[in-house]
Amino acid sequence: MTRPFWEAPLHTLDRQEWEALCDGCGKCCLHKVEDADSGRIWPTNVACKLLDLKTCRCADYKNRRKFVPDCLRLTPELAATLDWLPETCAYRLRAHGQPLPDWHYLLSGDREAVHAAGASVRGKAISEVLAGPLEQHIDWGDEEPLEVERVEDDDLDDEGAESDHA
Ligand code: SF4
Ligand code: SF4
Repeated sequence: MTRPFWEAPLHTLDRQEWEALCDGCGKCCLHKVEDADSGRIWPTNVACKLLDLKTCRCADYKNRRKFVPDCLRLTPELAATLDWLPETCAYRLRAHGQPLPDWHYLLSGDREAVHAAGASVRGKAISEVLAGPLEQHIDWGDEEPLEVERVEDDDLDDEGAESDHA
């Protein structure tokens, strides 16, 4: 039996299969802050202005680079090396030879399952249009908040980055 494309190596996927791999979590559309001193990248809950916070999808995916020129085009190589990609990202998982989670719509058949599982940004993010300074929205996890000196956006290639998914 032929294995499904979501179990195949990323570099073997055609364009349609690559696009279909995205789980629609929206996590990679959240801004990040890079500490100018340490180089560490911190996640925030601030979403790119084009992210639809209800669907967790890009509101104008086809033309997005007109409005967000630094929106990243994800590749198999980047999926394997970008540390800031969420651990649940389908591209990251497959780049490391790991299976998709049960809630992924390709397995569950349900596009809402990613939200029901709490694996998307639905209900957890604020648009950059309303958020104010990113430093006030850093997710510190279990760590003590720090004074972060931020790298300018133009120098942070991956900020506002998104995969090349539909
Ligand atoms: S980061 Fe890119 S894909 Fe995500 S909402 Fe913004 S423009 Fe769209
Ligand atoms: S590229 Fe990854 S992190 Fe971004 S929405 Fe798709 S699955 Fe989620």
